Amino acid sequence: MRQKIGANADSMKQLNRSTVLHAIQRHKPISKAEIVPITNLTFATVSNIIQELMEAEWIVEAGYGRSSGGRKPILYELSAKKYYAISVDIAVASTTVALVNLYGEVIHKVSTEHEKNENGTCKVELPTIYGLIDLVLEYAEQRKAEVIGIGVSSPGPLNAEKGMILSPPNLTGLDGVAIRDLLQEKYGLMTRLEKDADAAALGEYWFADRKPNMLYVFADRGTGGGILFNGTIYRGFLNGAGELGHATVDIHGPVCRCGNVGCLEMVASGLALERKYNPKSMADLLQASRNGDKEIQEEMDDISSYLATGITNAVNLLNPAEVILGGALVDGYPPMASKIREIVTERCFTRENGVPDISESVFGINGPLIGGTAVIIQQVFEHPEQIMNREK
Ligand SMILES: [Zn+2]
Repeated sequence: MRQKIGANADSMKQLNRSTVLHAIQRHKPISKAEIVPITNLTFATVSNIIQELMEAEWIVEAGYGRSSGGRKPILYELSAKKYYAISVDIAVASTTVALVNLYGEVIHKVSTEHEKNENGTCKVELPTIYGLIDLVLEYAEQRKAEVIGIGVSSPGPLNAEKGMILSPPNLTGLDGVAIRDLLQEKYGLMTRLEKDADAAALGEYWFADRKPNMLYVFADRGTGGGILFNGTIYRGFLNGAGELGHATVDIHGPVCRCGNVGCLEMVASGLALERKYNPKSMADLLQASRNGDKEIQEEMDDISSYLATGITNAVNLLNPAEVILGGALVDGYPPMASKIREIVTERCFTRENGVPDISESVFGINGPLIGGTAVIIQQVFEHPEQIMNREK
């Protein structure tokens, strides 16, 4: 958690700059006069900051707004052409690296499938990840795209503050690897690591204008969750918050790789699907359901009910304003979102007074990838001076 201590002139200036950047990102295109009431800054302060941000090419003019009598006001938006981030999405079965602009648009991406271990888990090692980053950096250099940082998303458990991947149950090769510092040192770029679902939650908040108090559900090969609290990732005491996939939904269920019993992930995940229909892959099974395979469709409806049960528990505990459903299962089985919405709406504790908005991710299976960039943007917007000073 950031602490707000004192306020000398410099830190006030930084805070104001950050506040204006936030306002422009969320309300683009926007005029100076419109920024004033959102930020509670004076028109003169807003004008000064706008000038600085224009000079540093963080923002550009974006036409004219409606006149309220006098001249039409100039509108501003973030520049989509100067600054970019590199997103590294380490998933269970593959790693994808992309060049992404400040609007969360993927400009270029490369990816590779992971090796499979005998027990069905997958394996990836650092040189593979370096190789992909090298390719994307090369592309960025050719296009003179200025990269401001590297945002890595990975399955948990991990320690975001230390930038270290711990021991993801379904992925080997990176246990105990301090990936943030390794990448930061190797590439000389500010680097951050976040859990896949946390990064994806932040991506929705920044790039899809979602609410700041939100639960993101990642229904993919594994099952995970990310919690946003006032627009910030809630990590919990030992970085263990949001582990929706390891909430028990069946006390008589099988023992999970995490050691707990009857976890949601054991019954409602791509891994569970593959276990049941071995040797078919998650992608094949989702395709079969779309082709009308009744048995798989029923299985997907079951998975939806289990997910809805876990989500109802989480909603009762957290009471978020919004629940976003993302990941390959949601993307690959279109009826899933409405089934989950129906069940949660029927059962959640606050149903008489209202229920959270429940909707699908706008990024499909790219949630954690786009999220990697949101992680960097959040960091830079909180401390824009780091980048602006580098310019001089
Ligand atoms: Zn578990």
